[in-house]
Amino acid sequence: MRALISGASIAGPVLAYWLRRHGWQVTVVERAATVRAGDGGHAVDLFGPAVEVVDRMGLGEKVRAARTRNDTITLFRTTGRPITLAAEHLAAGVSDRHVEIMRGTLAGLLHEATRDDVDYRFGTVIDHLDGTTATLSDGSTLTADLVVGADGLHSGVRRLVFGPEQRFRHFLGAYLAVYTLPDVLHTGPTVAAFTAPGRAATVYPTETPGLSRALFLVRTPHELPHGQVRDLIRRPFHPHLEPVLAHLGAATDFYLDDISQIKMDSWTHGPVTLVGDAGYGPGPAVGGGTSLATAGAYVLATELGSGSGLAAALARYESAMRGPVHHGHRIGPAVLNAIVPRTRAQIWLSAQAMRLLPHLPPGLRARLTSFGGGPAAMLDSLHLQPTP
Ligand SMILES: Cc1cc2nc3c(=O)[nH]c(=O)nc-3n(C[C@H](O)[C@H](O)[C@H](O)COP(=O)(O)OP(=O)(O)OC[C@H]3O[C@@H](n4cnc5c(N)ncnc54)[C@H](O)[C@@H]3O)c2cc1C
Repeated sequence: MRALISGASIAGPVLAYWLRRHGWQVTVVERAATVRAGDGGHAVDLFGPAVEVVDRMGLGEKVRAARTRNDTITLFRTTGRPITLAAEHLAAGVSDRHVEIMRGTLAGLLHEATRDDVDYRFGTVIDHLDGTTATLSDGSTLTADLVVGADGLHSGVRRLVFGPEQRFRHFLGAYLAVYTLPDVLHTGPTVAAFTAPGRAATVYPTETPGLSRALFLVRTPHELPHGQVRDLIRRPFHPHLEPVLAHLGAATDFYLDDISQIKMDSWTHGPVTLVGDAGYGPGPAVGGGTSLATAGAYVLATELGSGSGLAAALARYESAMRGPVHHGHRIGPAVLNAIVPRTRAQIWLSAQAMRLLPHLPPGLRARLTSFGGGPAAMLDSLHLQPTP
């Protein structure tokens, strides 16, 4: 059997790895010219079953060794003294099996684990699909038994097979921006977090000495052109952010996107299916999308490897992932409320909660930081089948 996968970030390589283990031939096309390895991009989270999947790939040790090491967080508000807290207190309710790692680093490790026996074609996209015959942007055609879109929130496979993105995208009322800049705040291994009504930012060190990364979140009542969002982000809401924002214009990796979820009644159409953000993205930075992508890819490969026929396997994949995906979509807005409070009263409350956290009994601390079941709990209903 032969699979054509679009997207070589997280879901794509995980799926490729496990399909190879089931004896499939796999081609992965990726729009980017090279693998997005290195510590670029943003931090992502692997919880519970997703950690189990990378462990089963033999990558657990490397992934844990490469985890981010920002052990404290300092919250700056527009009024009041800064509050510093050990990051472990904030993560208490997230999961007892949790690894935070830069997306580029994880993508690099996944690529390394698959590149020898997967046909990767970087700088290539699917231009046209006729059933499972794809015309690629390099002019070649390729016929597979299965085509999988693992190409993220703005999936090309989804657009070609299911229709325009607007049909499936649900705006959560906020935008995020990320860029790299010189380490102007000199916070060491501490994450500097800033909050004001409808605004939030974090500035944290990268693995490259002398460089840090800034992440800005801004709420808007409705969708706005990106130029207007960029202007909103450029307005400092804390004096410490002025030198950070002074570097925005010069950033070569500036990334801006809306925080939206992908909701579909079905992410399968004949021999074409979607995995990860492409089919059920819970929203960047709010819903544990990386864990859903990793676990979803494993479940899909396991079902396809069961030898029960394509249609039955794809139906079982959908039914196994429906619960976790629904959970991920439900918690997105709650997580957004926690990280970008709307009002001064909410900011005051979360500051008091941060002050109290270290002094609370572990059970209560875990409950307060779990975001009502949280991104980790969404995968609780998943039972990973044994490895082939
Ligand atoms: C700023 C930011 C912060 C985030 N924070 C977190 C977090 O804290 N925790 C967390 O778990 N998740 C977080 N996420 C979400 C996380 O990055 C995604 O859920 C995860 O990467 C999904 O993996 P994926 O493989 O499905 O898609 P992606 O990682 O989006 O990968 C899609 C791949 O497809 C490629 N591609 C796109 N279009 C095409 C095409 N037409 N043809 C071929 N290739 C294509 C892309 O180049 C990319 O390599 C965050 C996202 C962002 C943007």
